[in-house]
Amino acid sequence: MLIDGHGRRVNYLRVSVTERCNFRCQYCMPEKPFSWTPKENLLSFEELFLFIKVAIDEGVTKIRITGGEPLLREGLDSFIAMIYNYKNDIDLALTTNAYLLPETAQKLKDAGLKRLNISLDSLKPQVAHQIAQKDVLEKVLKGIDKALEVGLGVKINMVPLKGVNDDEILDILEYCKEKNIKVRFIEYMENNHANQSLEGMHGKEILTKVKERYSIKALGREGASPSFNYLLDDGTEFGLIDPHKHDFCENCNRIRLTAEGFLIPCLYFDEAMSIRESVKNGDIEGASKVLAKVLADKPKENRWNEDDNDKTQEVSARAFYETGG
Ligand code: SAM
Repeated sequence: MLIDGHGRRVNYLRVSVTERCNFRCQYCMPEKPFSWTPKENLLSFEELFLFIKVAIDEGVTKIRITGGEPLLREGLDSFIAMIYNYKNDIDLALTTNAYLLPETAQKLKDAGLKRLNISLDSLKPQVAHQIAQKDVLEKVLKGIDKALEVGLGVKINMVPLKGVNDDEILDILEYCKEKNIKVRFIEYMENNHANQSLEGMHGKEILTKVKERYSIKALGREGASPSFNYLLDDGTEFGLIDPHKHDFCENCNRIRLTAEGFLIPCLYFDEAMSIRESVKNGDIEGASKVLAKVLADKPKENRWNEDDNDKTQEVSARAFYETGG
């Protein structure tokens, strides 16, 4: 069992397979990074899998593949099959913008993938274009339909931004209700890589929008999930991910692995240790030691601050397109 330095059980590994993305979402990566990490610096799927086996053997039960846009990396279905064939009861999920799902969903499902989290920030073509800086909506919606058609579990993630898509919270909720899928509204997390003129919505403001149409009941958090769940009066459930509160840090059960082999204990901080040399040398014991050290040093909580007026607050230097969000 993996226990961190604060006594928390860690059983969830998020693996970013590429930092590259076919969107340029303003809250994540508005410009192409000055230079992408050269492909030769990325760990191969076999090398990533070597670490994943260590993590599974030591107690990881849930794996999420993310990016950048994970569907851009060739051979992703074979990587998923490697994990599935090693332990088929792993909760195996992927986070995607859905753009490439019309042509890949069936292969992913056949490889053993169980669930998808899909980013959907707007149902208006021009707003979706403004956020992603590309004409994306039609393919994204087709991708969602394809995922549902092949039988993958689907959840939607939306990041509400003031003056951009804050008028669509109820529309996205209705869209998800109609498709019988759950939406989670994510508070915008300030970071150095985003368009700095953006302003996110606080959890409280998001709930106020929902209350314009529905009465809601707080259900609470589901285990270690960062999502706080709510129930509408018609029985629909939705979630709110509010990292500016730290109450989910105390149950944090996750670590992150980047495509270059950095093991990251907290989304907010720069700290990381590399498993690169270990997996390149097939050194399972070495990889296991790095994992133990990262767990021992895992921070107690992130530093996104609830107080907007606190000008001393730091902004995270972490790029979500590297860590996978
Ligand atoms: N390309 C995939 C996608 O679009 O979902 C996976 C990577 S993306 C970095 C993973 C998640 O991080 C998405 O749900 C996205 O909305 C979220 N995300 C990225 N930047 C964020 C930010 N600044 N604040 C809140 N969520 C963010």
